[in-house]
Order: sequence, then C-alpha cells, then structure tokens
Amino acid sequence: MSTENAAIPAAVLAALTPLLERVRATLRQQLTPAANGVCLTCSFQAEDVLLTRLALEYAPDLPILFLDTGYHFAETYAYRDQLARDWKLNLVNLLPAQTVAEQESEHGLLYQSAPDQCCKLRKVGPLFDALADYRVWFTGLRREQARSRAALEESAPFALPGGQTILKLAPLADWTTRDVWYACELLAIPLLPLYAQGYTSIGCQPCTTLPLDPNDPRSGRWSGRKVECGIHIQPAPEDASSSPTVA
Ligand code: SF4
Repeated sequence: MSTENAAIPAAVLAALTPLLERVRATLRQQLTPAANGVCLTCSFQAEDVLLTRLALEYAPDLPILFLDTGYHFAETYAYRDQLARDWKLNLVNLLPAQTVAEQESEHGLLYQSAPDQCCKLRKVGPLFDALADYRVWFTGLRREQARSRAALEESAPFALPGGQTILKLAPLADWTTRDVWYACELLAIPLLPLYAQGYTSIGCQPCTTLPLDPNDPRSGRWSGRKVECGIHIQPAPEDASSSPTVA
C-alpha cells in the first residue's frame, strides 16, 4: 500500500492533516483489535475508496460491501477487482436474488420503467439484508454530494426493516470534493478511470451519464428522475420502500 505523498503542497497538507486525523480517530475507535460486527460499504467512487484505504490501516480484514447489481460499468468492475487484489480486500459482493437476465426476462428493463423497483431489488434489499449481520456501518457519504444529503449526520442510528438498529457512521460527512481529491492524491490512491472521462458521480451504467448540470455532481444520475437509490433512506419498519425519511 502506498505511503503519503511528500510532493503535496504544504498548505494543502496543513488543511488535510486535521481532517484525516479526525477520520482516523473515528476509525481507530471503532476498529479496535477486538471489534467485530463492523463493515464498510464501497461503491468504488473516490470517497468510498479513500475511507476504505484509511480503514485498512486499522482493520485489514474489514468486510468491504459492494452492491454488485450486475449493471455496473466494465471499468468499475475492473477497478474493483484491481483494488481487491492490490489491497487484499475482504470484498463482499452483495448479489440480488435474480441475475440481470432473470430480472429482465420477468420484468423487462426496470431501470427504465420502474427505477425505484429496480434499485429496491438490486441494491436496497440486498444491502439491508446484509447489514443485519453488523452493528456498525461505515459509509463515505458527504453532505456536499446532494441536497438530499445536506442534513447527513456523522453518526446516527439506522433502523433496518426488520427492526434491528445499527450505528451508521459517515466520517467524511463535512468533506468537500476538493478535500477528497487532495487526500487521494496525498495517499497516492488510484481513482476509478471514469472520472477522467468527466463523470462526477458513478453508479450503474444504465442510470449514469455525464453531469447534466456542471454545478450538480449527481445530475448525471437517473437523468434527474430521482436522486437516491434508497440505501441511504431510513426505511419504515418492515417495509423498505414506503414513507421514507432521509437518514
Ligand atoms: S441504479 Fe439503475 S440499474 Fe442500478 S439498481 Fe438502480 S435502477 Fe437498477
């Protein structure tokens, strides 16, 4: 794993150092040698990869959960596999009940006709089922990413549909995109190559385009039809799809 990059300008390093130390303190507190029941979800976008890289300093075997919808870009799968090899990730690919072919055979192209249903089947359901095995969930979410995330808390209880409550931690909540980019440069973290093509928020290929609004990095997601897939929305008890409120 790469060490910190001494070529970063001193002023940038001075601003980043306390930010990184605060994140590391949160990780250190949760990822003690005796800790169990902790996981981190990683989409392999920059902030998730940064948080993964930092978490591995304390828990090299930390379960890294990836929502393997079957609809990701080939570049995302290749990057995931490269990092999994290079960083020896304890990668947990969460699969939907149906393959893409089975779902499309039964329902057609749900990402066109009913994207909420598609996300529920391929993301929300598999993740919430998996999270029931954990007590702490780390995520790279940031408030700056979208208006729907503006009230994001760094630490908050998250009630799963079955009634179990886990602790959801977002230690990068107040980081800017610039902070993330500099930190990745500082730590010599290779980024998903799709950023170099102009993508600013990267999910499933059918639901991701280049940003439609240069001032909104998530404006290329779902062509503006919706803003969240649902995994970061607090579900109502026993029903992951109704009466959502932002967690
Ligand atoms: S992001 Fe699109 S393709 Fe992926 S699960 Fe949601 S609707 Fe389906």
